[in-house]
Parts: sequence; C-alpha cells; structure tokens
Amino acid sequence: MIDPHADLDPATLAVSLGRPPRRAGAPLNVPVELSSTFLGSATSGPGPVYGRTDNANWQALEHVIGTLEGAPNGCTVFGSGMAAVAAVLDLLDHGGLLVVPATAYNTTLELAGALRDRGRLRLAVADPADPAAVEQALEPGAMLWIESPSNPLLEVLDVPRLVGSARAAGAVSVVDNTFNTPLLATPLADGADVVVHSATKYLSGHSDLLLGAVVTGDAETHRRLVTTRRLTGGVPGPFEAWLALRGMRTLDVRLRRSVDTARLLAQRLTEHPRVDRVRYPGGGAVVSVEVAGGAAAADAVVDALRLWTPATSLGGVESLAERRRRHGNEPATVPESLIRLSVGVEHAGDLWRDLDQALRVTPGRGPIR
Ligand SMILES: *Cc1c(COP(=O)(O)O)cnc(C)c1O
Repeated sequence: MIDPHADLDPATLAVSLGRPPRRAGAPLNVPVELSSTFLGSATSGPGPVYGRTDNANWQALEHVIGTLEGAPNGCTVFGSGMAAVAAVLDLLDHGGLLVVPATAYNTTLELAGALRDRGRLRLAVADPADPAAVEQALEPGAMLWIESPSNPLLEVLDVPRLVGSARAAGAVSVVDNTFNTPLLATPLADGADVVVHSATKYLSGHSDLLLGAVVTGDAETHRRLVTTRRLTGGVPGPFEAWLALRGMRTLDVRLRRSVDTARLLAQRLTEHPRVDRVRYPGGGAVVSVEVAGGAAAADAVVDALRLWTPATSLGGVESLAERRRRHGNEPATVPESLIRLSVGVEHAGDLWRDLDQALRVTPGRGPIR
C-alpha cells in the first residue's frame, strides 16, 4: 500500500494524522472516548479492554507526536510532563547512575534528588556545556539527561555530541524536547534513545491542560513505558488527549508566529536601557531578560505588565512573564533579576509596547528615550 503521508512536511502531518479512516459518514476527528471500560467476552476477539490500558484519543495523539519525532509507533502519553519524566527515570536499574545537568527543569532535578535520597538511583550533576565533564561522569548502564535550550538560561548544548558520548559509554540518552518541539529539533534523529515532552506547553498550546509524552525508537523501551503507565496509572484523561491533539493541529502556525515575535522582541530588548542582558538562542519562543535593579526591579516590571500575564509555564498562545527566582526550588545559577518571557501569538507591537512601559518602572542607568 502507498503511504499517503510519505514525504509530507511536519506541518502537514500535524494536521492530517490521527484521524478516523476516510469513509463516508465518518467523523473528521476522533470523538472523545469517555469510557472506563469496554465490552468484551471470551469470543469477541481483540479490542480495548479497560481505560487505564487503552483509549482512542491517546492513540490518535501518540501517532501524531510519535510520527513528528520520528517513531510513529513509539509514543506513550502520560497524565503530565512529570508523569512522563518519572516513567523515564524508572527505566534506570535500581542504583543506576543518572547524569543530569544543573540547568535541567527544576522539578526534574527535585525528583531526581528525591530518588537519590531514597537510594533509588545515584546522581551525578555535570555541566553539559562541558562535554568532557559529562563523558567523564558516564558509565555503562547510566542515563544521560539533556535539555537544550536550558530553562530558563537558554543555553544551547551540542546534542549530537552528547548523545554520541552516551552511546559510546554504553549509557542511554534522554532529551527533554519540550522547549523545541519536534518542529525545531528531532533528537531521535541525532541518535538520542528517548525523547520526553511536557505536552502541557507548545504541543497543546492553550494553557488549558497537563499532559506528557515519551517517544522512543526502541520497541523494548516502548513496551516497558506502556507497562509502567498501566501499572502506575499516570494516564491522561481522554478529553485532555483530545484537546492536546486539537492544539497540535495548529502547532506549526503558532510556533512560527511566536518565534518571529520572540526574535523581534529579543532584538529590541537588547537595545533597551533598562535591560542588563537578553538571553535568546536565536530560535524558539522563550526569551529571558535580566533587568537593571535586581529582584525588586524585576518584580516591579512583572507587576506593571498589563497584557503579558504574570504566571509560570510557557508554550501557550497567551504571552506569560515570570521572575523565576520567586520559586524556592529555582537553582541559584539563575539570576535574581531574570524574567522568563514565553512569547505567545498576540500582535508583536502590542507585546513590545507593554514590555517597554513596564520596564520604565525600573531604576535605569541612562535616560529613557
Ligand atoms: C513543564 C515542564 C516539565 C513538566 O511538565 P508538566 O506537564 O508541568 O508536568 C518538564 N520539562 C520541561 C522542560 C518543562 O518545561
């Protein structure tokens, strides 16, 4: 059979996959399958059995995310990004070594630390910007955790080199691809073993649900993840899966718009007299700014915003701003004055004017134009 989706662009795949078979009278979208159990008997043949094991909305979403990441049959969705992270960490043998950067997502670090404190795993915190230090820390059977760009410092890592080092050392490599989405990076193609997503962010894109996903090209690893989900029950609701797939239909247009605006804002912020430093890796839709005047000034800027929403999270159509160190578990490597901006899809000029007026509340070094 000819694969109708061969050679299609990811933007097209995100729209066209995960739909019911094309026949007269079929719905265009997979209906929300709200059922905890499914009819079956000894004679009725294979089919879904129970809602912790099977759901049509998960399957549709998994097919789309898996295809975009390069493993159409290798995606497992979870009830949140952290449920996905926890399932991946559980792939490590008891007492195994996790090599994680100090710049990893703060709750991933917190979970890894809690698992270490209980003796579940050993932890090596390495500087991923120094691949030699990472290579030094690796051992056979270890798991290397990679996030690029990092959150919220937005440092970009040499992912192909790091996953290559992991492979050479007999270790498994995991990339948290939340910030990039498969439209900006496909770590499996770079040689990574496992990709993790908080689909709460760009993939679903509307700040209205939590959902996680894990993708792997290795059938045995996939089977273990599916089993973990069934045994531990960290499943997404069918409606959340339906909403996430609906969000993914517009991933390409949302992301392109946000990236274009982020690039423009990063450029203008660099020239702003009240800004000490702009962190922007040149792609993506998150920009971090360090404002003049420290924590108090940064808090004042966030409070003065009218259009940007003061809230944590990222990846939604709504632009969000947050001083990250307001969180007790944010590492001290993050400057007190750093505000993380998640650029949404509002008009760029409106977003800029609001930022500019808010920045004027800070004590600057030079006169405001
Ligand atoms: C938000 C986030 C997570 C956790 O996902 P939840 O859906 O909030 O549980 C993990 N990694 C990264 C990079 C994130 O931004």
